[in-house]
This record gives sequence, C-alpha cells and structure tokens, in this order.
Amino acid sequence: MSTAREAIKMTRDDMEAAVKDFPVAILPMGATEQHGHHLPLGVDIYLAEGISRKLSERTGAVLLPSVPFGYSWVWRDIPGTISMQQHHVENVIKDVAHSVSRNGVKLLILVNGHDANNSSMKYAARELMDEIDMPVSYLFYPNLEQIRQQHCDSPTWSGMIHACEFETSLMLAIKPELVDMKKAVREYPEQPSLYGKSTISLGDLSDSGVYGDATLATKEKGEEMLEQFLNQMEKLIQEAYASLPKKD
Ligand SMILES: [Zn+2]
Repeated sequence: MSTAREAIKMTRDDMEAAVKDFPVAILPMGATEQHGHHLPLGVDIYLAEGISRKLSERTGAVLLPSVPFGYSWVWRDIPGTISMQQHHVENVIKDVAHSVSRNGVKLLILVNGHDANNSSMKYAARELMDEIDMPVSYLFYPNLEQIRQQHCDSPTWSGMIHACEFETSLMLAIKPELVDMKKAVREYPEQPSLYGKSTISLGDLSDSGVYGDATLATKEKGEEMLEQFLNQMEKLIQEAYASLPKKD
C-alpha cells in the first residue's frame, strides 16, 4: 500500500470495497489539551493520527477519522483544554465499534496518543466482546519505556510522557511546523506526597505544562522512535488479524 485508506475521503462504494479487501479499521484516539507553550493543543491527535495513517499505508486497513477529545480533567482550567467525561470516551469507542462492525469490519484497532484514554479503551474492548462479534485491539506506544530510554537523554517525570523530550521529538517528526523549539523548556516539578492519592493533579504542579525536558527533543530521535513503534504496531495488527476466527 502506498496511500492511506482514509474513510472520510471515500464514497460508500470505496468503503465497501476497502472493507471487503481487508476488513480492519483503525481509530486514532486523541485529546485536545495543553502541551506547554511550545506545542499545540492537538499533539495527541496529530501523533495518534500520524501513526495511524502510516499503519493504514502499510497494512491497507481503513483509517477512521480521529476522536479529537479524551479525558483531560487535570488540565481543565488551562485555556484550550476540552475534556470529555471518562464514560463518554468509552461510549464513543463503543458506538464507533458497533457502527463499523455493521459495515463489515472484522477487527478494530485503537491507536492512542493520550495516556488517560488507555483505561477507557480497555473497558470498552471488554464490554464490546460481550456485545458484538468483532475483537478490538488497543495500542499505545508498544514497549514505550524501552524505546524511550534508547533514544531520549532525559528521564521522565514519574514515568509520565507529557510535552517532554519524547512527545516533542515525535511532533518534530510528524508535524514540525507546529513545534516552536524556542519556547521549549525543562521542568521537573516536585511531587507532593499526596499526588496520586488525592485530587492534587498534574494541572496543579507544573508552571509550563511540561513534564520533563523538552529542550532535548530532535526530529531524528522522533523519526527513529516512530519507525520502531510502527514496526511493532504493524506486527501486532497482522497478529490480531491472523488470530481472527476463520470462516468455514
Ligand atoms: Zn500528549
């Protein structure tokens, strides 16, 4: 495949033919939330969509339009952040899954760019398993920690990736025109002992909205990590497809 099979550019006939040819659809899962002063609000959308587009090119799976919102409660008071309630994220996934399943899709792949979507994806997939005959796989940067450590020079803040060297490098690889490296900063806020045990949240801790060292980000690091993620995700999609129950 050379071009992505983008659902919103297809006619109903194109869609019918694409699903008949390879009955797999990819749903990019994003968020609209602050990512510091050097990155746009749509980082999680651009990354999930950029990766999904490449996976569609490589596998022939249909690329569905991205889900633009996620659960972003922690940044809710910062301009531009739009948060969906957690159970709404789950229901959006389920509604999309029910629809594509009626269109003949046999396997749905969720490609996530926003950490807080992970639990919604897992619970939606479990509920869907009891409702429809279409498995759902959910992918979020496979082997993240290993690949991040191989390519990034700065440590994470508490294992988190947000507007840091990692996300900024990926953005430089996927959407460089939207990155302003002159405004990139390094920030490792102190972690209160009640963090993770109370409503003290990320939004309360970092002045810049960056968690980690965005100044060390480069396009090369982003491209190398992207290639590794893509190779692994492509394999996972083929594996999930191969394990679908065979007809007859
Ligand atoms: Zn992000």
